[in-house]
Amino acid sequence: MRVRAALVVTVLAATAALAGCSGDTSPLPVTPDRPRAVATTPAPGGDKPAPPACNPRASLRPAGSLPPPGEMPAGSYMATIQERGRLVLGTSQDTLLFSSRNPFSGEIEGFDVDMGRQIAEAIFGDPDKIQIKVIGYDKRVSSAADGSVDIVADTMTANCERWADVNFSSIYYEAGQKVLVAKASKAKSINDLGGKKVCSAAGSTSFENIGKVEAKPVAVAKPAFGDCLVAFQRNEVEGISTDDTILAGMAAQDPYAKVIGERFTQEPYAIAMDKKHPEFTRFVNAVLERNRANGTWKRTYDKWLGDFGPAPTPPKAQYR
Ligand code: GLU
Repeated sequence: MRVRAALVVTVLAATAALAGCSGDTSPLPVTPDRPRAVATTPAPGGDKPAPPACNPRASLRPAGSLPPPGEMPAGSYMATIQERGRLVLGTSQDTLLFSSRNPFSGEIEGFDVDMGRQIAEAIFGDPDKIQIKVIGYDKRVSSAADGSVDIVADTMTANCERWADVNFSSIYYEAGQKVLVAKASKAKSINDLGGKKVCSAAGSTSFENIGKVEAKPVAVAKPAFGDCLVAFQRNEVEGISTDDTILAGMAAQDPYAKVIGERFTQEPYAIAMDKKHPEFTRFVNAVLERNRANGTWKRTYDKWLGDFGPAPTPPKAQYR
């Protein structure tokens, strides 16, 4: 317990320090330096009308070969970005391996950030022409849809409900939901957590999915997964449930935590964009297509996720 408390202090101190060196990014959407009331929600998920059926993995087909960097077609949204001089990426800053702030450099980095950098490189010939805006998990759809960012790459699942508001790229990563508990826990899967508090980020598919588990764990919403980790370390919740990718990053930060059970959902990650610029979605898909073929995807995987084993085959693009 004492060690766990020390870990909480470390996480809070680190988060507070990081919030103070935000560089060109927007500030944290919440102040994580004091305990918040735990919002518990009875079984989310079941009361929403089902979205129209779709294949969430199928995106818009690339329109042909990519224009050379710095020569974006006149009138296209890529030309607007080029004129502005930087691509604006919306992401989080506490998802280790995908998008988290490096405490030494102060830079936000990870697999998702590299997805953004690769698009900046295709537009400008320079992956550094990128501005990172930290957004809440529950602002991913609205930020992409209202144009306050050009792209959202943030462990974001492409699903039919979100397709109603944004365009998604083709899939760049296949994740799935699992659960993290204390190493001492006897639970073998989320089905052993009936009636127990299980944390997830507000606005995430994970939060909705907890509500669909038959054993009926109590879904607890926090603004970000970093907040879930703090709640877990304070013993306010029994576990955290979200994508295996995010949980792997948390388990790496907490020696008293373990990830259990099989994936119980499919979470295909895609880049979200404003529906008003379909040519930009096609362009992004052409970049992803090229980077799957030329080994860039594999290098990105090895760089961030190589510790978990050899890179799988990248998800194959599907188009409408
Ligand atoms: N991938 C899921 C989602 O898009 C859950 C994790 C997350 O919030 O990033 O909602």
